[in-house]
Amino acid sequence: MFRIAAVSTLALCVAVPAFADEVNLYSSRHYDTDYAIFDAFTEATGITVNLIEASGDELMARIDSEGVNSPADLFWTVDAGRLHTAVERGMFQPIQSDVLDAAIPADLRHPDGLFYAVTTRARVIYYNVENGRPENVNTYEDLGNPDLGLSVCIRTSSNIYNLSQMAEMIEIHGEDGAAEWAEGLLGNLARQPQGGDTDQIRGVAAGECDLAVANSYYWGRLQASQNPADRDAAARVLPIFPNQDDRGTHVNVSGLGVLANAPNPENAVAFLEFLASPTVQSILADQNNEWPAVEGVTITGPMRDWADFKRSNTNVAVYGTNQAAAISVWDRVGFP
Ligand code: FE
Repeated sequence: MFRIAAVSTLALCVAVPAFADEVNLYSSRHYDTDYAIFDAFTEATGITVNLIEASGDELMARIDSEGVNSPADLFWTVDAGRLHTAVERGMFQPIQSDVLDAAIPADLRHPDGLFYAVTTRARVIYYNVENGRPENVNTYEDLGNPDLGLSVCIRTSSNIYNLSQMAEMIEIHGEDGAAEWAEGLLGNLARQPQGGDTDQIRGVAAGECDLAVANSYYWGRLQASQNPADRDAAARVLPIFPNQDDRGTHVNVSGLGVLANAPNPENAVAFLEFLASPTVQSILADQNNEWPAVEGVTITGPMRDWADFKRSNTNVAVYGTNQAAAISVWDRVGFP
């Protein structure tokens, strides 16, 4: 509370109205449909949304350099591991909203209200439909089985998605167990890790690897692509949602936090609550082939067919708190 009072005083000093009818959003999302959502929010509340777009890392650098004078109210980015970096740098303030706490499941928000998920994506295993679904691949752990007998494509271990995945493996199995898994996975690699998630899916489609680990929405993008080669690749693969018979599939999020120096924190919370409303949830999920963070919201896009999978209930904030350990476990086994 002290911090907010101090910022209001500062805001008056620089002649910015303390209760301006605006909210300043720093976002690493880039979708045309976002503008329709902003307009609907303005219509409902009278609050204008001012958008600054850049990559998540660029925006964090900008917020850092703007310091206490930053006009940013909200930071929106993907992956709980990256949201955690913002937490570590002290960028967010805890917020309390009964609306958000009721709407967003506990595992998809920071335990202290420092960030909230608005959409989810799963880290799935793709296989080539021509070969049929492999009987011995039902869990992430199976990918580290020395007797797997199938080759795996995955991107480099330094990528944030793989750091978050490893962070959860450490939460489940401890560092030694996770290292053993990583060593097994290393032995099953089809090729030197290279490219992004889409390249792993293309590898399976082209028969270069039997299996690929990649996020769910990349398949949605490929199958909706203007490029026939992309659509062909999407048609050649299907996802396995791992660990359906035990803890559930590893999910990550896109999410937002209210910045510590936000000039309009009330407006920021109102905007977050708006994003958690069912209609907006549905639009947000569909536009990037994700799923709504809010339970029971229906989507109309291609991912609706996969919407009923069981997700792991590990709190996504763990991906941040275990991130340093994740880096060290990947390094320990020499994973590229
Ligand atoms: Fe991605």
